[in-house]
Amino acid sequence: MEKQNIDWSSLGFSYRETGVSYVSDFKNGAWDEGRLTDNHTVTLSECAGVFHYSQSCFEGLKAYTTEDGRTVTFRPDLNAQRMMDSASRLEMPPFPADRFVDAVKQVVKANESFVPPYGSGATLYIRPVMFASGPVIGVKPADEYQFRILTTPVGPYFKGGAKPISLKVPEFDRAAPHGTGHIKAGLNYAMSLHPIVVAHNEGFAENLYLDSRTRTYVEETGGANIIFIKDNTFVTVASDTILPSITRRSLEYVAEKYLGMKVEERPVPFTELTDFEEAGLCGTAAVISPVGRIVRDGQEILFPSGMEKMGPKIQKLYDTLTGIQMGRIEAPEGWIYEI
Ligand SMILES: *Cc1c(COP(=O)(O)O)cnc(C)c1O
Repeated sequence: MEKQNIDWSSLGFSYRETGVSYVSDFKNGAWDEGRLTDNHTVTLSECAGVFHYSQSCFEGLKAYTTEDGRTVTFRPDLNAQRMMDSASRLEMPPFPADRFVDAVKQVVKANESFVPPYGSGATLYIRPVMFASGPVIGVKPADEYQFRILTTPVGPYFKGGAKPISLKVPEFDRAAPHGTGHIKAGLNYAMSLHPIVVAHNEGFAENLYLDSRTRTYVEETGGANIIFIKDNTFVTVASDTILPSITRRSLEYVAEKYLGMKVEERPVPFTELTDFEEAGLCGTAAVISPVGRIVRDGQEILFPSGMEKMGPKIQKLYDTLTGIQMGRIEAPEGWIYEI
């Protein structure tokens, strides 16, 4: 496959219009057959439901070039299922999981020249998105929807290696009990923009939210789950108000089956943070970002792994999962979808 003439190493994590997108419309109670398009704009009624009542959800995954030159994606079936869950909670018509996976394959295949070469550190980011396109004025679900998948090549999330970041515990909450914290809805991000701007202005990379009922348990950041290491144990948060990260679920498997670690998924009290040796944020974009420091009301928790580099256990987890994604390490059955 002849690749585009792009300076892959100079790419950042930003949108760049690419080749073709996939689009399917929901009208008269059904999704149409779907198609690829080179039109990257959408024209909608000013009364479209997405503009007023925020009926929208999205996904994020990546396509990679493996060491032996194959183009692959990582566990797209889990993104497909999660998007169905998000859509259902928002009274949107779920896009069938098998059609989602097929659409991802179609759009990556059509954009294969934009999938960055092995070793460049860059990847093709895949962004499925669904929104209410039909007009609504009274509060109710719209009658028409559009599902799209756009792709855009992105550089390594961290240029020049991953430096540990600082998190702030904000005075804001992210998700209410029985609310929408567990789905990938645009509305969860809209309300996190103000807290993130405040945190950035104070020099923090992200906000670490607490459970909004008691404000005593750790939840997640605006866009990533949090993981902790203590001895040979990998600890992650169990909560029904966090987004079930595919990266985190994959790391749990890698920790247990590849690295022989003990895995605990359970509520994590904020007061326990001082017991941990290493911490990290996990999500598709960065895989793992090491966390060096967490600050709440001026009180600082510094992890023993420090602010200079990833701790050794998090580094091992990172190397193993990225090795699986890039084809250097054998993947568990069903994790790698070849294009
Ligand atoms: C997308 C997202 C994540 C990360 O999920 P992955 O499937 O690992 O990419 C974590 N938290 C939130 C709130 C998210 O929106």
